[in-house]
Amino acid sequence: MPARLILALVAMAGCLVLMVILFVVAWRRTLAGVEASGLRYRLRCEACGNEFELAPRAYTRSKVQRSRSVTRTEARGVTLVRRPRYGYLAKRFVCPACGERHWCEVLNANEAQDVATPIALRCFGAALAALVVIGFALRAVLV
Ligand SMILES: [Zn+2]
Repeated sequence: MPARLILALVAMAGCLVLMVILFVVAWRRTLAGVEASGLRYRLRCEACGNEFELAPRAYTRSKVQRSRSVTRTEARGVTLVRRPRYGYLAKRFVCPACGERHWCEVLNANEAQDVATPIALRCFGAALAALVVIGFALRAVLV
């Protein structure tokens, strides 16, 4: 194999690893940002009706969810934006009142989304920008 091809393959593999790292970092920064914003998820156990609050980090631990979303068009400044809004969102958590795993409805899903989305966009935007810069640098080196 020509050395140039090997170099290109190594660079591509390195880029892939870097991409994963950048996105893990972006995800961590998003979580830290949402945590720092003081946002608490309000949940209601569907079995006993108990309401409780969870910090973002604890909230993301539950992976199973069910939801119904409705897309609404909203006026934002001078533009109209289509935004998905949750009609219903529930995740499985251990309810502190009954001590068992139940579906818990997220009562402030849309408000939480409004807090988390700009933070996520900022963190992932920075990761994407870094990738573009790295991509250009690689092209300059390889081509
Ligand atoms: Zn309960």
